[in-house]
Amino acid sequence: MLYMSKFSIEQEIKLLPIHEYAFLKPEEVIFSEEVREICEGNSCGMYGTSWACPPAVGSLEECQKQCLEYEDTFIFTTATQIKNSYDVQGWLEARIQHEKLTDKVGEVFRKYTKSPLILSTEGCNVCKNCTYPNEPCHFPKKMYPATEGYGILVMRQAQLCNMRYNNGANTVTYFSMIFFN
Ligand code: SF4
Repeated sequence: MLYMSKFSIEQEIKLLPIHEYAFLKPEEVIFSEEVREICEGNSCGMYGTSWACPPAVGSLEECQKQCLEYEDTFIFTTATQIKNSYDVQGWLEARIQHEKLTDKVGEVFRKYTKSPLILSTEGCNVCKNCTYPNEPCHFPKKMYPATEGYGILVMRQAQLCNMRYNNGANTVTYFSMIFFN
């Protein structure tokens, strides 16, 4: 991508409430069979429930191939204070805010790049009832597949990018990734 476009992107995203971020190459993204297996074991209860999760997103190989077709990758986090680890409402609110921020970051990338691939947290909750599998997704531009659904090992990815996977007691950290040209 043009140096100027990357510079413009960085100038704009610096104005947003991102906690940490990094640029990397898609070849540096860590894909893992195990992450995908955990996902397929339905640990979060989202497997097979939306267009944003496996099996709808394709096989691990297909997801990886899709990511590697891009030239660059951006990863960012939000870190939100919650009352304690049982603060379900706090977790929920943190995720809603993270997704809203992902919309904003996505807008910046859409402004400067063509058809970025945006991955975010735990499937999609844009619609009250997902159309999966009966009709195509109603909001493909708002639908961000989960990083884990793509088989990305976020914990190790964070280390590789010098980012914190965990921001301390009573915080919740969420990640999103954007692949772009
Ligand atoms: S945007 Fe709606 S239809 Fe599309 S994956 Fe999300 S919930 Fe399903």
